[in-house]
Amino acid sequence: MERGFVGILTSGGDASGMNATIRAVTRSAICHGFKVKGIFRGYEGLINDEMKEMSTEDVSNIIQRGGTILKTARSKEFETSEGRKKAYEVMQKENISALVVIGGDGSLRGARTFAEEYDVTCIGLPGTIDNDLCGTDVTIGYDTALNTIVECVDKIRDTATSHERIFFVEVMGRDAGFLAQNSAIASGAEAAIIPEDQTDSDQLEEFISRGFRKTKNSSIVIVTESPNGKGATYYAERVMREYPQYDVRVTILGHLQRGGSPSANDRILASRLGYTAIQALLEGQRNVMVGIRNDEVVYVPFTEAIKKNKPIDKSLIAVLNELSI
Ligand code: ADP
Repeated sequence: MERGFVGILTSGGDASGMNATIRAVTRSAICHGFKVKGIFRGYEGLINDEMKEMSTEDVSNIIQRGGTILKTARSKEFETSEGRKKAYEVMQKENISALVVIGGDGSLRGARTFAEEYDVTCIGLPGTIDNDLCGTDVTIGYDTALNTIVECVDKIRDTATSHERIFFVEVMGRDAGFLAQNSAIASGAEAAIIPEDQTDSDQLEEFISRGFRKTKNSSIVIVTESPNGKGATYYAERVMREYPQYDVRVTILGHLQRGGSPSANDRILASRLGYTAIQALLEGQRNVMVGIRNDEVVYVPFTEAIKKNKPIDKSLIAVLNELSI
């Protein structure tokens, strides 16, 4: 049966495993008789009609590569109704009947708005290291970023121990503490300061009185980045002021958390979700994100997926506190 084109794009912050997702969507689509157009630079490329037809060979040898072969971008124009109108017209012109969007919550927010305004079919795939999309236990890129952070913290610990210092290590996550909390558990850090837990002063005070005081001469505290200036530097400066007896340092891991070869878990997740995106189209699903819950692939309406404040399992906080004595 002859089918229309599936358009595929990556949008927002890059995440490891996006390439594995592009590969999975492209190959599954072709298996089911769709043709595929790869759209460059996210929504910006859709508006500007930057795309090419993809063959199975175009996605060879990319499952192991970080970043995205389709490039990614942020598009101010797509946030305007004129921009989305242009995007719709390009889809018509290019005979794209369905759009697969790989990205974070901003990208899926854009897809939802687009699908509300026009009669388009969008399928979202959660591609973000922050793990902040609701309705899915994990997002593509999160596991790789977590592993990268743990590898870095292992190295920082050598210096922290040798020099008997407190290190505040800042990690990504935007408004979500998943990376900080779980990397702290996995690296044996003494504390995590995350947006979901109490007030900032409580967390610092608690750490100082609980952990550093007793048996340890060095400590590592993982802090979620903060748009309000309350990242690792803020806490380090407070400790320097309030506890001048401690030798304090800051490491901001920054963009090295985003790239690198995806972990096996991220490749498998990307492959399962990419495959299911095409199954979703075959079933007539529209305007849903494909996610994973309890190891089962699920469809999550966009409105649900982009809800704020995905809850973090609070028992993780107890695990870290108890094991860091
Ligand atoms: P991420 O997808 O990683 O969260 P952003 O938040 O930067 O990244 O969003 C990526 C892009 O999605 C934006 O540059 C914009 O083009 C589009 N977008 C985000 N929010 C909206 C919105 N409310 N309406 C339309 N487009 C949006």
